[in-house]
Amino acid sequence: MSNSSRITVAFGDGIGPEIMTSTLEIMKAAGARLECDVIEIGEKVYKSGHSSGIAPESWDILRRNKIFLKAPITTPQGGGFKSLNVTIRKGLGLYANVRPNLSYAPIVKCIHPKMDLVIVRENEEDLYAGIEHRQSEDVYQCLKILSRPGTEKIIRYAFEYAKRNGRKKVTCLSKDNIMKLTDGMFHKVFDEVAKEYPGIETDHKIIDIGAAFVAERPQIFDVIVTLNLYGDIISDIAAQVSGSVGLASSANIGDHGAMFEAIHGSAPDIAGKDIANPSGLLLSAVDMLVHLGQGDVATKIHNAWLKTMEDGVHTGDIYDPTISQQKVGTQGFTQSVIQRLGQKPEKMKPVNYQAGAGPLVIQLKSQYKESKKVFKGIDIFIADKSRNAEKLANGLNQVKHENLKLKMITNRGVKVWPEGLPETFCTDHFRTRWMWAGNEANAQSLTTVYEFISKVSAQGFDVIKTENLYSFDGLDQYSLGQGE
Ligand code: NAD
Repeated sequence: MSNSSRITVAFGDGIGPEIMTSTLEIMKAAGARLECDVIEIGEKVYKSGHSSGIAPESWDILRRNKIFLKAPITTPQGGGFKSLNVTIRKGLGLYANVRPNLSYAPIVKCIHPKMDLVIVRENEEDLYAGIEHRQSEDVYQCLKILSRPGTEKIIRYAFEYAKRNGRKKVTCLSKDNIMKLTDGMFHKVFDEVAKEYPGIETDHKIIDIGAAFVAERPQIFDVIVTLNLYGDIISDIAAQVSGSVGLASSANIGDHGAMFEAIHGSAPDIAGKDIANPSGLLLSAVDMLVHLGQGDVATKIHNAWLKTMEDGVHTGDIYDPTISQQKVGTQGFTQSVIQRLGQKPEKMKPVNYQAGAGPLVIQLKSQYKESKKVFKGIDIFIADKSRNAEKLANGLNQVKHENLKLKMITNRGVKVWPEGLPETFCTDHFRTRWMWAGNEANAQSLTTVYEFISKVSAQGFDVIKTENLYSFDGLDQYSLGQGE
C-alpha cells in the first residue's frame, strides 16, 4: 500500500466549491491517503490583477506537490485574460490529455449504448504552440509545430495506456493526405511504435471521416491518439454524443506533474443551489488515485459510484422519471456514494484498478541519429500590393544572383508563376522559391543568401519572412506548390 500523497486542490468558481467538497468527502470516507494544500485560482485571482488566473506563490505549491485536482473556474469576460488551463499545461509540461468517453446506458440515455472510447490528445504542440503573426495587409499565419520526440511520446503513451487498461485497439487520426510532412511524420511514428505492440490492433483514419465516425459509430473505436487541435474537437464531439458531459473526467499528464478535472465548466447558472452533479470531478479524482498508486481506493470509489448510478440515485441533470428512482442534490448524491463504499455494481461492469500501479512513465526509444542536412534553397515571402505574380517575377528577376534561381511563386500555396491559372485569386502574400544552382551549398551559402535577401529588400521588395529549404538524408523536406 502506497504512502500518503500531498496534492494541490483548487475549489474554483461557480459550482466548483460544491463538487470539490463532495469529491473530497467521498475520498476521505473511502480511505484515500491524501494531504491537500488548497490554492486559489480563477475569477477572483484574475480580477486581482493576475492575468493568468493564478498567483505566483500558488505556482510554487503546484510545482512542489506535482499533482493538481482542479475544480472548474469562470473565465472573466473581456480581453487580456490568459487561459489558466493552457498556462498550467505548458508550465508543468502536461503533454497528454486523456479523456474517457463512456456510455452509461441503460442508466443514462445514450444514442450510442456501446460507446467506450478513450481519447489521448497531444497537449503541447501543433497550432497551440501559439506562434501567430500578421504578415501583410491580407494575410495572417499560425504555425503548426510538431516535434518527433513530442509525437513519439504521445503515441507511446496511447499504447502503454491501452496495454495497462486491457484495451484492444489504438486508432491514429491525422490529416496526412494534406499535411504530408507534419501529419505524415505523426502517422509514420505511429506505424513505427505500433510494431512494438503486436497484441494491439492498430488503425489510421483521416481526421475528417474519423470525427464523423466518432459522432455516428463511436463503438468502432477503443483508444484514439491524435494531434492537439483534432483532439480538442473530437473530445467534445465524443463527450456530447456519449450523453454524459456532466460525468466525464479528464487527466492532463506530464513527466513533472499531472492535473485532473471534470470537462464541464463552472455552471454559474446553478451555483450554490446544491443541484450540481459532482460525478465528473469525482471520476477525475479516481483517475488521480490510480496515478498516485492508490488503485485500491480508486476501485472502491468507482464501484460505489457505479452502484449509486445503477440504483437510480440521480442528480437533476441526468434524472429521468422513466429510469431514475430518486432525485437527489449534490450532498444527497455524495452521501449515497459514501453509503455504497465497499459495494459493487450488478448491471454495470465493476472496475478493478491495479493497486500500486502508479503513473505511466514513458521513455523515448527511437534512436535520433544525426541526418545529413543539405541546404537546397530558400523561400522568400514577399508582401506585394500589386497582387500580380507576373509583375513580381519580372521585378525579382532583375535582382541577379549567380547561384540562386527563382523557381516558382505561389500565393496561399498555389503556383501562380510560371504559368499560373487565371482563375487563381491572389492576395498580397507571395512565396517566392529560390533554388541553389551553384556548387553544392556549404556553410557560407546561407550568408550569401542573406546578402541576396538584403539586396532584394534594398530594391524595395517587402520581405516579410524567409524559410530555408533542406533535404535530410537525401529527401527534400519542404512542400511543393499546388500545381507544381
Ligand atoms: P458549463 O459546462 O459550465 O455549463 C453548461 C451547462 O451544463 C449549464 O447549463 C450548466 O448548468 C450545466 N452543467 C455543467 N456542469 C454541470 C454539473 N456538474 N451538474 C449539472 N449541470 C451542469 O459551460 P459554460 O456555461 O459554457 O461555461 C461556464 C463557465 O465555465 C465559463 O466561464 C467558462 O469559461 C468556464 N469553463 C471552465 C472550464 C474549466 O475550468 N476547465 C471548462 C469549460 C468552461
